Amino acid sequence: MTDTIIKKRANFTAYESGALKEWPEHTVDIPGLGEIPGKRFLKDAIEFTGCEISLNSMTPGAGMPIYHQHQQNEEVYIFIQGRGQIQIDGEAIDVQEGTIVRISPKGKRTSRNNSNGPLLYIIIQARENSLTQYGLGDAIVAENKVNWSNKL
Ligand code: ZN
Repeated sequence: MTDTIIKKRANFTAYESGALKEWPEHTVDIPGLGEIPGKRFLKDAIEFTGCEISLNSMTPGAGMPIYHQHQQNEEVYIFIQGRGQIQIDGEAIDVQEGTIVRISPKGKRTSRNNSNGPLLYIIIQARENSLTQYGLGDAIVAENKVNWSNKL
């Protein structure tokens, strides 16, 4: 599968995660849980510093075998394909492509794929209340005119 840094310069890193249908091939080794299929953490791979992002793919009938909480980080689950459920503090929520769920650090969470197709989602994990400026509030417009060297 394609899962590699394709270009890296002083001010950027470009990474290919593979096609969505290849995401189930990702694995990660989690201490205490063993090898988790369909999960890929990106922070160290792409070397960003303000959050952790994981790519997740859950096969039909699969589910996380544990509940977990966090010490200081909130999480945002962004579901991009399929159907399933996420359960937080005992409350189940049906999720599908387009569903986005934010969870406080203390929320006890688990998820499962109770559908017939793959469930794909992205989790963003960042320290709760850490963001002091964001979006356009953090942007500076550069003076350069836009120039693409290879014209269309
Ligand atoms: Zn988590």
